[in-house]
Amino acid sequence: MLTEINLQQALRAPPARALEKLGELYAQLDRDIAIRQPICNTSGRCCKFEIWGHRLYVSTLELAAFVHFTQLDQPSGPPADANTAITFPLPLYQEDRQFIPGCPWQIDGLCTARSGRPLGCRIYFCDTTAESWQQERYEYYHKQITALHEAFEIPYRYMEWRQALALLAL
Ligand code: SF4
Repeated sequence: MLTEINLQQALRAPPARALEKLGELYAQLDRDIAIRQPICNTSGRCCKFEIWGHRLYVSTLELAAFVHFTQLDQPSGPPADANTAITFPLPLYQEDRQFIPGCPWQIDGLCTARSGRPLGCRIYFCDTTAESWQQERYEYYHKQITALHEAFEIPYRYMEWRQALALLAL
């Protein structure tokens, strides 16, 4: 039975080799995208989930990598251990404790976390001619990422993006 402590440790201090392998998968996906060249017409509107009408989901390792790679770009560097606070650029919650509409890492229409963004962000394009390609590639990479959880004994969760981010604020 996996505990929250295990999950938090996996999020804040994942195995370095697992991060490396995930980075290799992201690089492989970048090459797939460069070959397929799907089109983006919406200039970040897809990151405003409620307006766009979809949701972003993420696995444990992707969330851990998001923290690691995103904070590599910050002056404070990556989190040192499981007790290191995660810095959010914008609030996660509204005053009524509902999630803000959209991703807190989108500022002035731009993603401020591109190096760490998860698979769903990387593969989503509003190009309707690329829908089946996206779905096939998502399933392929998600399967590879799931296998990394097994290989490195990382507790697997598949979570809506803001609910996943809320785990970082605990
Ligand atoms: S991480 Fe970046 S690409 Fe992904 S939803 Fe947030 S702002 Fe958009």
